[in-house]
Amino acid sequence: MARILDGKATAATIKAEVAGGIEELRAQGRRVRLDVILAGEDPASVTYVRHKETDAQEVGMDSRVHRFPPDVSREELSALIDQLNDDREVSGFIVQLPLPEGLDPQPLISRIRPEKDVDGLNPESAGRLSMGLPSLMPCTPHGVIQLLRRHDVPLEGREAVVLGRSNLVGKPMAQLLLRENATVTVCHSRTTDLPAVASRADVLVVALGQREMVGAEHVGEGAVVVDVGIHRREEGGLTGDVRFDEVEPKASAITPVPGGVGPMTRAMLLHNALQAARATTA
Ligand code: NDP
Repeated sequence: MARILDGKATAATIKAEVAGGIEELRAQGRRVRLDVILAGEDPASVTYVRHKETDAQEVGMDSRVHRFPPDVSREELSALIDQLNDDREVSGFIVQLPLPEGLDPQPLISRIRPEKDVDGLNPESAGRLSMGLPSLMPCTPHGVIQLLRRHDVPLEGREAVVLGRSNLVGKPMAQLLLRENATVTVCHSRTTDLPAVASRADVLVVALGQREMVGAEHVGEGAVVVDVGIHRREEGGLTGDVRFDEVEPKASAITPVPGGVGPMTRAMLLHNALQAARATTA
């Protein structure tokens, strides 16, 4: 039976640590504020933003959501980003993705000052990450590393395979695993014989966006399996990129969906906002 890598409990610990950090700043008369820019009404985005608001409240962080209709212009969003960049009360902010059709996210994300880029998706943040320089790190891959560390999963010298190469998850995940001295392979849609490469992994991180695609044939005996995928089941509830029931008996440890990487991502956003506040108001 595989050990369950409990993201819910680990995220609760991290949130308690963040709450403590916020309290310390408050004692010095300093506050932490996390803002969110939400354009349009994509139902998943609306839910995620609601979670971010309640998460912030729970740890004693201020937050404000700036809502726009789906036909908002790039100029309006750019003007708000400039304003938030200059607002000393705002520790950090994010642009909730995806943006409505016709709005290219990249120029907007690039406009966020790296010190306030709490999603860690700005090209400067990504460049600093790949060079091993201090930066705010993307929440999902950083959450995965924290989850592994806090469950004492060794990474140094181990073979790590990342399935997926998106800028949001796969690429920064590979960078962070490298930083932990794992030997890293990244797979994508042109990889030939995915099961053969994936099953070499001591640590397999799955971020394909393909519902329940990964099965026993992708997993070596005793591997640690991290499922980043999130998919809504028609009958209600969530599932991941991994066929949990089939993979769990082969794995030595595995993340559940829900209750694995999802809560860690949310906790790391709060962690980043605190880190940004400490750096900007110190
Ligand atoms: P993307 O769709 O941006 O990237 C998917 C990656 O998987 C791409 O690199 C793609 O390859 C690769 N891929 C897709 N299909 C296959 C295939 N059949 N064989 C091999 N490779 C394939 O997704 P994201 O990285 O943004 O997200 C991945 C998943 O994680 C999604 O389910 C998303 O909902 C979830 N997610 C969960 C979060 C959480 O907090 N738990 C946070 C963020 C995302 P190529 O580059 O060649 O196209």
